[in-house]
Amino acid sequence: MEKVAIIGSGCAGWTAALYSARANLKPLVLSGAQPGGLLTTTTIVENYPGFPEGIDGYELITRFQKQAERFGARVKFGQVESADLCREPFLLTVDGETIQAETIIIASGASHRHLGLQSENKLENKGVTYCATCDGALPIFRNQPLVVVGGGDSACEEALYLTRFGSVVHLVHRRDQLRASKIMAERTLSHDKIKPVWNSVVTEVLDVHQDKVTGVRVKNLKTDVEQVLDSAGLFVAIGHIPNTQIFCGAIDMDEMGYIIPKHGTATNVPGVFVAGDCADHVYRQAVTAAGTGCAAAMDAERYLAARNE
Ligand code: NAP
Repeated sequence: MEKVAIIGSGCAGWTAALYSARANLKPLVLSGAQPGGLLTTTTIVENYPGFPEGIDGYELITRFQKQAERFGARVKFGQVESADLCREPFLLTVDGETIQAETIIIASGASHRHLGLQSENKLENKGVTYCATCDGALPIFRNQPLVVVGGGDSACEEALYLTRFGSVVHLVHRRDQLRASKIMAERTLSHDKIKPVWNSVVTEVLDVHQDKVTGVRVKNLKTDVEQVLDSAGLFVAIGHIPNTQIFCGAIDMDEMGYIIPKHGTATNVPGVFVAGDCADHVYRQAVTAAGTGCAAAMDAERYLAARNE
């Protein structure tokens, strides 16, 4: 029986693990399908306090893990397939194995949102990707024109990263203004290899018949005019969807699937707490995820202490 099971191994999960390990609760971290979470797919993190020169995302999360493990946190690699929160102790199924837990901290993060096009689906990993830092250096993208879609910090980061490899990077955005932070937007728009394509959406990824990306059809929303941008790759960076599907019906969430805490980090189910991006569609920063991870661990510790009084 686990005192604290933590679902997710990103900034929120490992911070919750650090705090509950230091409270002698020997937390078990369930890594999820993407150990380390979305931060591991970032290159340089420039806004995590304490690292004035910036730090590689993978390196940062590895440090989180080491620090939590130093105080007794344990990790189990695998994905939580189901959660029975109607009984106590709670039951989690991880890759077919059952885990019992007195408290659970949900820190399951979020996944990349897809455009929802059939051609996008068919050409995934054949030129369509959701992570420039993972795939951008592949030979198929070298010295080729590339397309990034999105207008947030992620899209800017992807576009800037891809300038190292592509001949030109088209940044397709559905409005005529970036959502990204000022510093990222300025860096992006002043780069001579990045060409913004404003007020436009991707309507088709070409070419399913050739089984690889050769171009992207985009439509201008103001004029309805369509054009084809030659491209060897489509990098989709249009935000995220919270990884909360397995808690549907048991845990209160909004219409987008973000968990709604009842008070602090406590959910509607006593003993189940939430931290990080799966409950945050506003801030979604590494440092805010870490902060709520700390809060969830403290709330779980107090809950266990009150139960055992
Ligand atoms: P985001 O800020 O939610 O931006 C998503 C972008 O995709 C928006 O520009 C949005 O357009 C567009 N979009 C959404 N759905 C779309 C669709 N179906 N078709 C076409 N375009 C669509 O997401 P994000 O860029 O991933 O950033 C998430 C959070 O992480 C933010 O808080 C961001 O600051 C943070 N982050 C920070 C850094 C950094 O500081 N270096 C790097 C990455 C992420 P609209 O603008 O029209 O809504």
